[in-house]
Amino acid sequence: MHMRLLIVEDEKRLALSLAKGLTAEGFAVDVAHDGREGLHRATEGAYDLVILDIMLPGLNGYRVCAALRAAGHDVPILMLTAKDGEYDEAEGLDTGADDYLTKPFSYVVLVARVRALLRRRPRPGASPVHVHGELKVDTAARRVFLAGDEVTLTAKEFAVLEQLVVRPGEVVSKAEILEHVWDFAYEGDPNIVEVYVSALRRKLRPGLIRTVRGAGYRLEAER
Ligand code: CA
Repeated sequence: MHMRLLIVEDEKRLALSLAKGLTAEGFAVDVAHDGREGLHRATEGAYDLVILDIMLPGLNGYRVCAALRAAGHDVPILMLTAKDGEYDEAEGLDTGADDYLTKPFSYVVLVARVRALLRRRPRPGASPVHVHGELKVDTAARRVFLAGDEVTLTAKEFAVLEQLVVRPGEVVSKAEILEHVWDFAYEGDPNIVEVYVSALRRKLRPGLIRTVRGAGYRLEAER
């Protein structure tokens, strides 16, 4: 399957080297060098993924992302940020970005993140609403209900739950959750996942997420 990527990046050398590398990986790649052109191309073209720099002339990455989402485009968006701290993760998630990467990043990490995003993209026509017993998770509206009552989760808690709910009954490893929810190159304590799982158990239901020793977590089937 031929995947089409759009790179929106004003640093021309970086944009071209990414385009060259991703083309060699078998992707079809287009490049835009400013925010307005990027928004136009992302709106017109059928892309499978957009790599979007934040600091762009014309229209910044947050605004491009928000405009795409407001227009109903659900293309996965990987945001690039110049340096740690400049990017506000909450703001990025609010505008609808799917993931972000801090510059300078290794090319290998970028490709892994692109592939991960393409893998987790829902199939066309797949419902964004996952119902699991009394738990209902709407991954499009990012809302969670338990027995009909809405449960408020933080962005990270939601992201962890999402990893489990899209694969009900399967064991999802801590490493997979880390890779999807935290920075791929996250070097902190992997037990951070446990902290969020504990919070989910408290907010939802203790027995809902089962720890499978040495393997990961599983969303339990409800009787
Ligand atoms: Ca830039």
